[in-house]
Amino acid sequence: MGFEELGLSNAALEGVLEMGYDTPTPIQEQAIPLVMSGRDVLACAQTGTGKTAAFVLPVLSKIAHKGRIGALIVTPTRELCVQIERVGRTVAHSTHHAVLAVYGGVGYTAQTKALHHGVDLLVATPGRFLDLQSRGDIDLEHVEILVLDEADRMLDMGFWPDVRRILRLLPKQRQNLLFSATLDDKVLRLIGDTLDNPARVDITPASTPVEAIEQLVYPVNAMQKTELLVALFRETADYRAIVFTRTKARADRVAAALNSSGVAAATIHSDLSQAKREETLDRFRSGKYHLLISTDVMARGIDVEGITHVVNFDVPDKPDDYVHRIGRTARAGETGIAITLVSHEEIPQLTEIERVTRQVLVTRDVEGFEYKERIVPREDRQTDTSSPRAMFRGGVMGRGRGPSGGRTQRRF
Ligand code: AMP
Repeated sequence: MGFEELGLSNAALEGVLEMGYDTPTPIQEQAIPLVMSGRDVLACAQTGTGKTAAFVLPVLSKIAHKGRIGALIVTPTRELCVQIERVGRTVAHSTHHAVLAVYGGVGYTAQTKALHHGVDLLVATPGRFLDLQSRGDIDLEHVEILVLDEADRMLDMGFWPDVRRILRLLPKQRQNLLFSATLDDKVLRLIGDTLDNPARVDITPASTPVEAIEQLVYPVNAMQKTELLVALFRETADYRAIVFTRTKARADRVAAALNSSGVAAATIHSDLSQAKREETLDRFRSGKYHLLISTDVMARGIDVEGITHVVNFDVPDKPDDYVHRIGRTARAGETGIAITLVSHEEIPQLTEIERVTRQVLVTRDVEGFEYKERIVPREDRQTDTSSPRAMFRGGVMGRGRGPSGGRTQRRF
């Protein structure tokens, strides 16, 4: 199916050309006609599926361009705001809408001025939106469409009271679109009364990670993780990678260690100023750095094409975060590699990830790396068939890929 069959306005179709898209992604194919029909939509789709265009294109097909806010998109992070604004402005070259993003961490003056200049599509983080609204800078009378982007994340980040406050400020008569990477009971309960008989669209995340991303586990002693990372990237040519750490302090430490070993890396986290973060991202995009170290919250909004590797320096506590993190690679039809460094202490989290994503991850070693305190290979251990790790026998062995195949037995 082509974009022409989705019911978009002609101007928005020109916007599709500006974006350089040929074929709609599944979420676009399913969500756009529903949004165009005027229904409320509840869409389950993770970052990387093309969800931004799935709401920006129909919204800009529907609202007027009169300099009055016709649609509001609420999203959890500044980076997402900027990404949505970028897509919106590109499409608006053809549709002639004024698109503005407002978010915290920067001064008010420019945002207030732009608001008073006239805006058709406003993209906002909840806190800054409410600040500006309480200062009388935002006129909501003409809002016809509300988009809640990454609703699950807004919930996790504690933004839900703010979101409810925003809902109360909006005209009752409006179309609601809710996008979320997960739609568990927690999300559904909270939004149940917000949407009016919504059409539901599910783009199961499984198709992206499992098929397009090669997911590998590198067992390693916790003390040797940095060393292993350096070794990994020394033997990898031509990469653009994001490394996730659990904390900001760890991100800085890992970056420092990589840099002092001759592997150029930059960090991005919330302690950095907005300007500095954007500068770092631009450098990463332009290829000045090939390695970016990040924490989860920051990484949500990173929209950089051509990421070849995602490395989980620490195993994420929540399987959901694992799916989000690795979804940074293999976007828009490309393939990618996700590497998870796993210490003995992190096996329970890994097991949970494998349970939820219904797969057994392939285990590899870095050739020639001097593993200290090399952990006993699992088949030398006493076998406890009731242990969840017992499932690695057999399952893993058959799944090694590539000519070297790596070593597919798990060692701990
Ligand atoms: P998103 O899920 O909105 O973060 O989008 C993920 C990536 O896919 C972005 O880099 C988009 O520019 C790209 N993208 C979105 N829709 C399409 C499409 N129809 N064809 C090709 N790339 C797309």
